[in-house]
Amino acid sequence: MMIAYIERFVYENDVESMTDPETNVEFAGKDFGGVQSSKPLAVIKPSTTDDVAKVIRQASRSPHLTVAARGNGHSVSGQAMAHRGLVVDMKSVEYGIQVDPTGKYADVSGGALWEDVLKRCVLGHGLAPRSWTDYLDLTVGGTLSNAGVSGQAFVFGPQTENVTELEVVTGNGDVLVCSSNLNPELFFSVLGGLGQFGIITRARVLLQPAPDMVRWIRVVYSEFSEFTRDTEWLITRREVESFDYVEGFVFVNSDDPVNGWPTVPLDSEHPFDPTHIPRPAGPVLYCLEVALHYKNEDPLSAVDKRVERLVGGLKFVEELRFEVDVGYMDFLLRVKRAEQQAKANGIWDAPHPWLNMFVSQKDIANFDRVIFKNILKYGVGGPMLVYPLLRSKWDDRKSVVLPEGEIFYLVALLRFCFPYPKALSIEEMVAQNQEIVQNCTKNGFDFKLYLPHYNSKEGWKHHFGNQWTRFQERKACFDPMAILAPGQKIFQRNWQPS
Ligand code: FAD
Repeated sequence: MMIAYIERFVYENDVESMTDPETNVEFAGKDFGGVQSSKPLAVIKPSTTDDVAKVIRQASRSPHLTVAARGNGHSVSGQAMAHRGLVVDMKSVEYGIQVDPTGKYADVSGGALWEDVLKRCVLGHGLAPRSWTDYLDLTVGGTLSNAGVSGQAFVFGPQTENVTELEVVTGNGDVLVCSSNLNPELFFSVLGGLGQFGIITRARVLLQPAPDMVRWIRVVYSEFSEFTRDTEWLITRREVESFDYVEGFVFVNSDDPVNGWPTVPLDSEHPFDPTHIPRPAGPVLYCLEVALHYKNEDPLSAVDKRVERLVGGLKFVEELRFEVDVGYMDFLLRVKRAEQQAKANGIWDAPHPWLNMFVSQKDIANFDRVIFKNILKYGVGGPMLVYPLLRSKWDDRKSVVLPEGEIFYLVALLRFCFPYPKALSIEEMVAQNQEIVQNCTKNGFDFKLYLPHYNSKEGWKHHFGNQWTRFQERKACFDPMAILAPGQKIFQRNWQPS
């Protein structure tokens, strides 16, 4: 039935039929970014891995058709779109989240949402994946195609380092199981591979015992040098003792409810008291966010002691410390609560011209001076994350590209569009993103875009740098006709290596 449906699109190439509401083409032509849009020919809802393979094989028989796997469509630059191509809705593949009896791993569908993986593993088995993203309404295949980073990555590496086996449908239409021992080139290519080499239909995700509770703490700095010294100290002393989660963000030194002081407190009982901000302070301040896991049976006095041992050596503004104890699932679902509020305010469904980067440690102080304290001194209408990661936790056989040096920072400018006059328009936000990237280039900063987006081949060549040849070779091997993930705009059908 499904194949007859695809064949209708493939052979009739009837563009007008896109308007059929049953195909959801309008929905698949949009994404969370809300900046790009496209017109797919059809949306396919496969039930099994074999259905996914059949879609790709059918597309390979046409001279021009492309296929985009769509996870939850939470990309911001059209990465999951296929203009006049086929969009494969991965969430429709029969859902599987199977926890192995050993408790060491779970086999999960590529289209499974991380939130569902969390709930199944914790509630059913008292277990949990080790490495997360901040927000969990993202699919397993969608984040593994990028990296998947959050405050646990300094311990375990990104999500791409926490899967040991994949089932993949390649651009040749082959269904292959791969791992670091079995079809290793495919395994390493697909992880962080921007959907270019295959569609992930199953992933084996490593698990650990889930804690019950989390002590969640935020502390404030006025000096960037002190903030970076302390965050780097925390992420490099894991072998001794550290927190289970380390992140940070920049906020505006004002009472602006969206960008400023009110964004720091963790509950309404402990508001931000600006009289404690040291003088002189700059236009922006910095917040270190950490979390410590514990079990219900751990005495709170022991938790307090562990926290104080770690916090004791940090140089934050003592009076600007906020902390709460929350359940582990509540902690991991914290952005869901923000989503509910944003939906109520109407800003969740408005455009999000986000910019995500990895910036080398050697340039982060200058980045603060040129970008945060200057271009972004009024904020971005949402969180401005900045926290360090360790390169040694990333296997460079995988497809993600990173700056040089052991420590680099994730910088995420998570822009929301507010309908009040002070906010920038979408065009101004996009222009500001470009200005930031241009400034980084002009100043010679060592950086890479995360969740990258380029419109030209030259942009991609530069992005991959000395890994461009390897990336092209992988494409030639696993998707030689360039059928997959056209929304990334890296290869066009019938491309030639260059
Ligand atoms: P989609 O947008 O649907 O797809 C992304 C790309 O992957 C496309 O090219 C698509 O074709 C391809 N793809 C999708 N599924 C598959 C598959 N099964 N096999 C192969 N290719 C596939 N990222 C982080 O690392 N850390 C964060 O903390 C974080 N927080 C976020 C918070 C929000 C609110 C949002 C909107 C995004 C966040 N992201 C974060 C970014 C997110 O990880 C990526 O945008 C991710 O790609 C979205 O997953 P998705 O399932 O919606 O993928």
